[in-house]
Amino acid sequence: MTSIQQNIELITSQIAQAEQKCGRAQGDVQLLAVSKTKPIEAILDACQAGQRRFGENYVQEGVSKVVHFNEQHGDIDIEWHFIGPIQSNKTRPVAEHFDWVHTVDRAKIAQRLNDQRPQGMKPIQVLIQVNTSSEASKSGVDSEQVLELAQLISSLPNLTLRGVMSIPENVSDYQSQLIAFKALAEVKNLLAEKHPQVDTLSMGMSGDMEAAIEAGSTIVRIGTAIFGARDYSNKA
Ligand SMILES: *Cc1c(COP(=O)(O)O)cnc(C)c1O
Repeated sequence: MTSIQQNIELITSQIAQAEQKCGRAQGDVQLLAVSKTKPIEAILDACQAGQRRFGENYVQEGVSKVVHFNEQHGDIDIEWHFIGPIQSNKTRPVAEHFDWVHTVDRAKIAQRLNDQRPQGMKPIQVLIQVNTSSEASKSGVDSEQVLELAQLISSLPNLTLRGVMSIPENVSDYQSQLIAFKALAEVKNLLAEKHPQVDTLSMGMSGDMEAAIEAGSTIVRIGTAIFGARDYSNKA
């Protein structure tokens, strides 16, 4: 077994333990393997361990991976999630290649993704990125603006509103992590009252997965703990 496969096994069992510890059903929490900056071989390696959901942050890199798998490994049914910031001039390749987008944070992006989704493809599964820490520098809408953006998204035929995502401030103590995650869970619950199809809470990364699961996460986005540290030297 390769180290990537061992890591996936380990994280899968950690997710199961965390689910059990807080009384959640086994399988409630999905593992999204964040493969940004990692080569095709690493993704194939993870596929060997049964992993089928992958997250990418950079449009060009992500699209080239999707195209590669569609052309060379059409037998592997991968679900591709876009989890990086989106500029409005880069929405088209995202709309044409990804199954999910976690980072919709304004009306213009939602509208363009809808308009650019090719006919015949399933609607894009959309999460609204929420800024729960209210830091001006962080991307994402404030909790108060979520309902308005949700209204627009749910009116667009080529988008399906599924929930919210957040990247809270990186803190190491469990209680502080939990507070930020519970705030996002609250936003998701409010949203689900108006939009019954909302079932997804994308939160938790390699360093804070357990707190996210205790607070109700349904998708944890794990990069480093699966694929090892990233090398950004060619991304500057
Ligand atoms: C890179 C990234 C992750 C993965 O982070 P790790 O700490 O490596 O697990 C998760 N979510 C988003 C939005 C990311 O950009």
